[in-house]
Amino acid sequence: MLRSRWNLCGGNLAFKQGACGHSGTAFFMSKTERACSRLCHPLFSRQKIPKNPQPRSFYRTDTKMSVNVNRSVLDQFYRYKMPRLIAKVEGKGNGIKTVIVNMVDVAKALNRPPTYPTKFFGCELGAQTQFDSKNDRYIVNGSHEANKLQDMLDGFVRKFVLCPECDNPETELHVNPKKQTIGNSCKACGYRGMLDTRHKLCTFILKNPPDDDDEDWAEETTEEAQRRRMEEISNHAKNLTLSEDLEKPLEERVNLFYNFVKHKKETGTIDAADKDILVEAERLDVKAMGPLILSELLFNENIRDQIKKYKRHFLRFCHNNKKAQKYLLGGFECVVKLHQVQLLARVPIILKELYDSDLLEEDVIFAWAEKVSKKYVSKELAKEIQTKAAPFVKWLKEAEEESGGSEEEEVEDDENVEVVYSSSARELKVETVKPDKPEKEEDDIDIDAI
Ligand SMILES: [Zn+2]
Repeated sequence: MLRSRWNLCGGNLAFKQGACGHSGTAFFMSKTERACSRLCHPLFSRQKIPKNPQPRSFYRTDTKMSVNVNRSVLDQFYRYKMPRLIAKVEGKGNGIKTVIVNMVDVAKALNRPPTYPTKFFGCELGAQTQFDSKNDRYIVNGSHEANKLQDMLDGFVRKFVLCPECDNPETELHVNPKKQTIGNSCKACGYRGMLDTRHKLCTFILKNPPDDDDEDWAEETTEEAQRRRMEEISNHAKNLTLSEDLEKPLEERVNLFYNFVKHKKETGTIDAADKDILVEAERLDVKAMGPLILSELLFNENIRDQIKKYKRHFLRFCHNNKKAQKYLLGGFECVVKLHQVQLLARVPIILKELYDSDLLEEDVIFAWAEKVSKKYVSKELAKEIQTKAAPFVKWLKEAEEESGGSEEEEVEDDENVEVVYSSSARELKVETVKPDKPEKEEDDIDIDAI
């Protein structure tokens, strides 16, 4: 925050002329920062004022006739001056009124329409005001002393002129009549904000916007624009997260993927989310493990129905991806473990279901059936599952022998080719990919830790 504000200052050449409110030009600037060291930023407020700087003011600098716009600044070389207010009481009795003779000049010094400070006096004093802009007559009803009005003007300057961030008076008001807001922008520090519109004068300003109000800025301060800016920021943060996610250890990435799918399931959006789920898995580089996580979240004792229901979701991972198919078998074992009573007896029919749905290929099933693994379930249960699966595996072998079983050679050639599943199976996109490096980490992961 500090830094960006500082950058804004540094980029503003006006600071070379002491736009911060000081007339000392380069004396107040650090050579490296190119910005005024005195008022541009409070951090640099300890610099000494040079002995004999030449005052340079946009306005008259006769110290007897003028006062600092910000009267709490006692520096005689303060760049922003305004004429001392001159008041003249006219009339008698009920018609008594105070004419602010030089209101046009005062207002010019403040870069505000003369009606604003006049109306401000009226609000503060509970008095009627009259404007006659053709004759430059700005009037507050009643009799009021110049000094009192001058003090009151400080309040106006504080509320409606000085930048709330840096106290610089080079600010502009921007009225948005639709939204009924008054924006405030500072040329010195780049501040942009909204005016507190509780003061009565705001009603007047909203009805009488400054002439040179530029619509673009007003547009920019709308809630819509602010929301858009926030979105840009959060998108930026999201991108950062995207690249950071990949740096995370596998376990964390798997957790992120798990939560992603879980959220889809809980919000009832999972049915159409098969593509999104694949994209997320690819983003997190956990594609092969996808079916393991999907099994955990989508399968229970009704696994046979669920295979049909979520076929597309699994196909996106398993199609021509033997590694993913191995993980699917792991997930299958886990589901059986959780629902042994209902599922153990149905192991062969569930495997057939997976096979018929093209989620498992023969050789993956054969390889799985050859070796008992205690990776996902206990050795005992794994053995039991395989015993139950045996009839199906036998049937599969016989079926393959009958059909010639010439696929073995192709299998090796297919290792470097990845087929990306698209919603229409006819539009398979074949891509040559690098052979997968052995991923030791993945093999070590324990389902219970996920
Ligand atoms: Zn400012």
